[in-house]
Amino acid sequence: MKIHSFNVQPNLPENIKFLEELANDMWFTWNWQAILLFVQVDPKLWTSAKRNPKWFLGCVPQKRFEELSKDEKFVHDLNQVKEAYYNYKNNQHTWYKEHRHENGNLLTAYFSMEYGIGEGLPIYSGGLGMLAGDHMKSASDLDMPIIGVGLFYKQGYVQQVLNREGWQNEEYPDNDWAHMPVERVTKDGKEITVDIPLGNETVKACIWRVPVGRTSLYLLDTNLQENTPAQRAITEKLYGGDRENRIRQEVVLGIGGVKALSAMGIRPTVYHINEGHSAFLLFQRIIDIMKEKNLSFAQAREIVWATSVFTTHTPVIAGNEHFDPALVRKYMDFYAREMGISWDEFLALGKEKADSATYCMTVVALRLSAFCNGVAKLHGKVSREMWHNLWPGLPVSEVPITSITNGIHSASWISHELNELYRKYLFNNNQRGEVDPSDEKIWAKISDIPDAELWNVHTIRKNKLIDMVRGRLKRQLTRQGFDVMSVKKASKVLRPDTLTIGFARRFATYKRATLLFKDLNRLDKIVNNPQRPVQFVFAGKAHPADTAGKEFIKMIVGLTQNDPRFKGKIVFVEDYNMNTARYMVQGVDVWLNNPIRPMEASGTSGMKAALNGALALSILDGWWDEVGPCDFGWSIGGAENYKSDAERDTVESEAMYNLIEQDIAPAYYAKENGSEYSLPWLSLMKESIKHIAPVFNTNRMVKEYYERFYVPANNYGLILNEPGKAEAVAAWRRRIAENWYRVSVTDITPQPETAILMGDKVHFKARVVLGALTPEEIQVELYLGQRGTLGDIVKEDAIDMTCTGKDGDAYLYEVSMSPLNSGRQDYALRILPFNNDIPNVLTPLFIRWEE
Ligand SMILES: *Cc1c(COP(=O)(O)O)cnc(C)c1O
Repeated sequence: MKIHSFNVQPNLPENIKFLEELANDMWFTWNWQAILLFVQVDPKLWTSAKRNPKWFLGCVPQKRFEELSKDEKFVHDLNQVKEAYYNYKNNQHTWYKEHRHENGNLLTAYFSMEYGIGEGLPIYSGGLGMLAGDHMKSASDLDMPIIGVGLFYKQGYVQQVLNREGWQNEEYPDNDWAHMPVERVTKDGKEITVDIPLGNETVKACIWRVPVGRTSLYLLDTNLQENTPAQRAITEKLYGGDRENRIRQEVVLGIGGVKALSAMGIRPTVYHINEGHSAFLLFQRIIDIMKEKNLSFAQAREIVWATSVFTTHTPVIAGNEHFDPALVRKYMDFYAREMGISWDEFLALGKEKADSATYCMTVVALRLSAFCNGVAKLHGKVSREMWHNLWPGLPVSEVPITSITNGIHSASWISHELNELYRKYLFNNNQRGEVDPSDEKIWAKISDIPDAELWNVHTIRKNKLIDMVRGRLKRQLTRQGFDVMSVKKASKVLRPDTLTIGFARRFATYKRATLLFKDLNRLDKIVNNPQRPVQFVFAGKAHPADTAGKEFIKMIVGLTQNDPRFKGKIVFVEDYNMNTARYMVQGVDVWLNNPIRPMEASGTSGMKAALNGALALSILDGWWDEVGPCDFGWSIGGAENYKSDAERDTVESEAMYNLIEQDIAPAYYAKENGSEYSLPWLSLMKESIKHIAPVFNTNRMVKEYYERFYVPANNYGLILNEPGKAEAVAAWRRRIAENWYRVSVTDITPQPETAILMGDKVHFKARVVLGALTPEEIQVELYLGQRGTLGDIVKEDAIDMTCTGKDGDAYLYEVSMSPLNSGRQDYALRILPFNNDIPNVLTPLFIRWEE
């Protein structure tokens, strides 16, 4: 059966027609005046339409619009929002306009499997999507030229529904484009589609555009009549289907994404691969460049590598996409042939080691991107260790994976009540989109906020959280068929004057949601302490296939419903999503984070809570590890290693109980003579906001990507696109590869045992054999440091040596330096390739140490 449809649009009176424009731009999601405008239209309907303005406007009765168009206050408010929106769109003094310094015109295409921008666009699952969404929003606020590319899922979001026993079931609400802020991309009045070779089929995808303030997100969709049912199902579910559907999704995202940009006439200069899912884009880019510039695979690869950015997001092995090589061959053989490389060569790009059994998307991205990073300092270090196999012979500290720490889009996560305070005391009355949260000076003024006002706002948010929890619980218990008494009791859970600790996470094992429940007697004493009681709010979903995670949820829900010690004092909120998250991070006193170190690459929910005045109680992991020792939050344990998981859990849960009992609760309840709040607690809140807010936000993060990655990638792209440049670099690399076996370094003086007086200059000399290579093509480094335990040397400095002449078939290299410290100094000599036209010489790796 062929089904046709048409779309009936609300008919808004002229003077409030702007509502429609507002509903079609995700800008509203981080502008409270805009959200409050929708709320004014119809508060109840706004909630039942899931805060999705497009859908919402379609449900509002025409009569109400007529009313509003005659309501002076509403029209006035609307005009203010309209002005703010146009000012935002037309601002000529944005951060980017005033700070840009790349050559030519930068345009970054950011590829991600998921985006968490707003509830009305449910194409996200968890932290990765939130980060991508916040990246886009800061790109818009800074006016950074970044566009997003993703997939349009029919079911982009798993809803968690608990049964009576606390067992998680899932529902997949359908996304309907008619209710979403999306429009089909057209050219000359015709909808643009792209053809994507997929094994022995070709699949068609159309493109949806989502306006996100000053930038756009483009989403590919295979749900087209022209496609077979199996093809239409490719973009059916986010992370849905089997391994085969996953690889088909990744072909559509990566290959299809590049084709879609070409079809729209968009020519990015830099590509940012946000997690390995989209790494196939590298191949389509190589194919396009080979054709366009008439280059070989090796030549085109140089350009693609130098202009690609890759961010890895997890040290969990299973979180790094691995495919069976046979499956990869089914879909990628065509592309290998297009590139003119053998299947073995293609496969080798995705194998961590020559004998690896799987093809790993992270490995492909690391091999073919010159700019790679982890998402926090500690995660950078862990990633360098984790992927060291790709650079054997290179000291682990030099593995070219750096770190850029994640952040959050501040304006999206600050409660609007607190925002009003910030606006008054910190933001000079400016709206948030125009305030740069990465400016430290702003946050230094936090002490200007009167304690009572800050506490008042915090209390308002806490009450809202409690109301939300009670309302949800009532609905949930009713649905589950509990008796009237139980439902009634739900209106009494939690108390506003009790210290409240929040925990909301995916129920992945490493996040240890059940750690708090390790010793129930101990927990009982904490929760039911007569002077200093503590209550907990939990939320989180398990992956639909994760039975162990579901058992955790069931256990916690069971305790909250059946154990008299915890009933009404520990609650579990169903269906953790952006909205639940907002209530929680804006209303709790303390945010608990207890993963197994160092598995939490960064974590961002703690940043959201901190910005709203909640204090951190966290394992030293991810972003919290780099806050460093501080007196405005609490760290559980240190960086110690444990003999077993059981030992770790015991020690760390102990430490957590002790902190809550002996430090946190006493500080929270240190209220002097009838005061409503504790002065020491308020000063902790302010210190925490002051230190965390300016650093852990996506404005700082996107600027860092700009300075450290986008600008150099863009500039190297310009160089390599000059006529003959890519050919020259590829020829150089080939010469290096062919001759490297002959390269060696010998006869180094002085010998390490020679004694030298402090202050003396030491003169180093070595003979270097290069075969057919010339000194211009290599660099010789004096590598200074301390002998490590693994027969390696821990780098302190590397100094370039100068070629001073030739002796037979060898070159002489020399350098002088004065040691800065006394004591034993170790050094080694090494040879690396040298080329000024590329971002780094470490990928692929050629390195020769003295044998
Ligand atoms: C912030 C957020 C996350 C990520 O939080 P983590 O600290 O990385 O676990 C996940 N889901 C939602 C709904 C969020 O708002």
